Amino acid sequence: MAASKSKGAPNLYGSFVHSAPGQFLASKLGLPQPENLRRYRAGEPPLSGPVLIGGKGRVAEPVRNLLSDYTFADSLSQGTKYGALVFDATGIGSIEDLSQLFEFFQPAMRSLTPSGRVVVIGTTPELTASVDEQIAQRALEGFTRSVAKELLRGSTAQLVYLSPEASASATGLESTLRFLLSAKSAFVDGQVIRVGSADSVAPASWDKPLAGKVAVVTGAARGIGATIAEVFARDGATVVVADIPAAGDALSDTANKVGGTALALDVTSPDAAEKLAEFCTERFGGIDIIVHNAGITRDKLLANMDEGRWNSVINVNLAAPHRITEGLVARGALKEGGRVIDVSSIAGIAGNRGQTNYGASKAGVIGMVDAEAPKLAEKGITINAVAPGFIETAMTAAIPLGTREAGRLMSSLLQGGQTVDVAETIAYFASPASNAVSGNVVRVCGQSLIGA
Ligand code: NAD
Repeated sequence: MAASKSKGAPNLYGSFVHSAPGQFLASKLGLPQPENLRRYRAGEPPLSGPVLIGGKGRVAEPVRNLLSDYTFADSLSQGTKYGALVFDATGIGSIEDLSQLFEFFQPAMRSLTPSGRVVVIGTTPELTASVDEQIAQRALEGFTRSVAKELLRGSTAQLVYLSPEASASATGLESTLRFLLSAKSAFVDGQVIRVGSADSVAPASWDKPLAGKVAVVTGAARGIGATIAEVFARDGATVVVADIPAAGDALSDTANKVGGTALALDVTSPDAAEKLAEFCTERFGGIDIIVHNAGITRDKLLANMDEGRWNSVINVNLAAPHRITEGLVARGALKEGGRVIDVSSIAGIAGNRGQTNYGASKAGVIGMVDAEAPKLAEKGITINAVAPGFIETAMTAAIPLGTREAGRLMSSLLQGGQTVDVAETIAYFASPASNAVSGNVVRVCGQSLIGA
């Protein structure tokens, strides 16, 4: 995957501990050593070892059938390194049953390859059949997030809650498991993803899941947006990239790179939805995927903030995506089975000093996902959001040096993420096979301690 145009600022600590003297000093002093995370490359296997699978629930067997191209092992073999540990916890119905987690994971904790994966699959607690089951299923969250904090060398742990109404073959799980059990989820750590009961149809090719789809990405002239466009094109989509008129040259570069179409569009203009709908309907017959990525920061302590800074951030980051989604749906431009993907931020979860405007806008984005998911479901449209943590872009390169290094290190993966990490998560939501995935906010933050 080509790097995006904004490479961000040099990672001083990371470069130092990866140099020969740095490695020596870091191991002597017990300093944290960030792993070079394994990232997706076409043709490489999704994991660097077999999957050890355990648990006595209802999905372990179907999962093996869905992922028939993976190698599975049923019992721990001393000395073997596993690419992933997968535990089917849907059979856990009481507090006593939680000991199954201990029995499976305790002996296996040191047997993961670097950039290994832990995935626990449980039942959505609010939809369980009994009080005991609800309590036990809720416990999985604390377990998995804690495992994520203990894993070393770029390994990650996630929890997937599956609706109890999902069919026995659980096909709605497939896209989520393929994402989590691959290098595409390199910077997603300690997350909980809810999967509904809808059955999914696997794409003709998992290498080109977006073939035949029309995708719009706003704010795509640079940074995360430009990389989303690249990943969408890699996955087979026809891409329309939009950005403000002033970013025209950079936007054309992105469009050329991805063989897509550029559209000068200020997302805050009152006719943005109409313009987008007309443009895409005339040229492509409508839109399958819209990513509201355009975003700005105008930081100031609230006591010093002027109205302009407040309004511009709320307008670009929150009011515009809301108005555009509603406008596209009302005009029928967003097709049935469509995908809406919003970009929130960990600042919208934890809050951030100097970012009352930004924090409000990005928390509002989460509200948008909550409120619109049930409404859009009637039209077979899903809506989800990513909440990036520290991602290496022009936006984070502008942060003062000390804060920037702290932002990188204060996470389980001990580093900042790449724009491609956010883009891969968005591509997972965008997949036609992710129709059982709606209403989720997935942090792409290496399990940042901020807002944890
Ligand atoms: P960036 O500043 O590099 O790029 C943002 C793009 O949005 C720019 O090309 C800009 O021209 C465009 N844009 C701004 N206002 C617009 C408008 N009114 N209409 C159309 N386009 C507009 O930022 P980035 O770091 O790539 O961030 C992308 C998204 O990710 C933003 O929503 C941001 O809030 C979010 N985010 C970024 C990080 C990070 O660490 N970089 C962390 C959390 C969230």
